[in-house]
Amino acid sequence: MFTIEPQTGFVLYLLLALGGLCVAVVYEVYRTEIRRWTLSKHRLRRCTDCNFTFVVARAETVARCPRCRKVSTMRGR
Ligand SMILES: [Zn+2]
Repeated sequence: MFTIEPQTGFVLYLLLALGGLCVAVVYEVYRTEIRRWTLSKHRLRRCTDCNFTFVVARAETVARCPRCRKVSTMRGR
């Protein structure tokens, strides 16, 4: 039969907990990178009604003008 000493069990439990924490941190950094704002020319939108220029997030497919609230779709996607 396989037996584990209490000290060894504690160390294994601690390593598993730290490993899970590391996985959670890596996942959160990955999620943050996906949603990060980038400044590029094709992310700029100009409202056709009020001529207000604003930046759209990378994951957004539909943008709403922050000034007049008109909805515009992203072209080329
Ligand atoms: Zn507008």
